[in-house]
Amino acid sequence: MEHTTKPGAESRPGTSLEGVAERGKTGASLDTLAQPCSSEGNPQNLLKKRARAKYLSLPLACSLARLETPLQKSYWNTYHCAGAIIQEGGKLTSKYCGNRWCMVCNRIRTARAINAYVPVVETWGESFFVTLTLRTVTAEELPERIESMLKVVKGIGRSVRETHKLPFQAIRKLEVTSRPGGLYHPHLHLVVEGREQAELLRSLWLKRYPMLATAEAQNVVSCNEGTLVELFKYFTKLTTKTVDGKRIIPVVELDTIFRAMRGRRVWQPMGFRLPKEIEEAIETEAIEVDASDAVKRIEETVDWQWSQQVADWVDHETGECLSEYEPGGGFRSFVESVAGGLTTLEVDSPTMPVESMNRRAITAEIQPVISAMSNR
Ligand SMILES: [Zn+2]
Repeated sequence: MEHTTKPGAESRPGTSLEGVAERGKTGASLDTLAQPCSSEGNPQNLLKKRARAKYLSLPLACSLARLETPLQKSYWNTYHCAGAIIQEGGKLTSKYCGNRWCMVCNRIRTARAINAYVPVVETWGESFFVTLTLRTVTAEELPERIESMLKVVKGIGRSVRETHKLPFQAIRKLEVTSRPGGLYHPHLHLVVEGREQAELLRSLWLKRYPMLATAEAQNVVSCNEGTLVELFKYFTKLTTKTVDGKRIIPVVELDTIFRAMRGRRVWQPMGFRLPKEIEEAIETEAIEVDASDAVKRIEETVDWQWSQQVADWVDHETGECLSEYEPGGGFRSFVESVAGGLTTLEVDSPTMPVESMNRRAITAEIQPVISAMSNR
């Protein structure tokens, strides 16, 4: 079994694709992270970010569904997530799949978590960022290991309060990453109030897992904005690099992780509670309907349909695009590599030829791609 030694090294903020998808290309600030639910208020930008998430999420969901595992039906729900946006009475309404692997839904979920948890942390005196890890496990051992870790950390919280007579407030986050050789690395990040409590957490963890945890693999640092970003990052890494430096999505490993995470809470408040409806809004996996303000042709009723070729929602009556999102060349190539082998699947089915779509909406950058696809 591989032994983990660098809990911080693999999960620096801003180094993974999903982080980029959440935060935009430039930074890792909480302000940017919180945008989807905050009053930042540029609906067009919001739609662009949603389009970017949808653009990656769709081929990822296809690849996962093709594995034909027990989550297949849910993966197909993600394929259809926000597939249509109905514009009526100045509002845009869409259905969301609510699944944890869906990049569209995760943008919403992450924003909700930030809006709920950050104000709580801000009321704490001094807070610390604690990383708790154990040796890696195989796919078969993963669900049981997750269960054990969550149970143990809950018990430690109780012990800090009852045995050590210290107040204890924390937010714990569960993360699982895959490792070479079919191994998995479930680990916990916690933001904890108080240095003494944070150090206790680490020492009690080592005590509970004498065979599986080593001192150098646990980490306690003072909490700052960077570590808070870490707490609200996606709970797994979507991409991994091959030996020749190529960026790929390890679909089989991700499916294993998503199955093991099913029904587990990503974030858990310890020693305090959030209002029930807010907790449910963060952790729910149910299909939701959500509405936002229309951004163009406000008075009209429009049926915007997602087109993977155009990377946007398109009005097939006029050929107009809703978000005007344009993927960069590198991101487009990457998404297309995820979609590799998709040729037998209908990615989308425009009711009019792509050639007659609004030329202004189709940039020079993506035109060759569309031509290539329609000549197929
Ligand atoms: Zn979704």
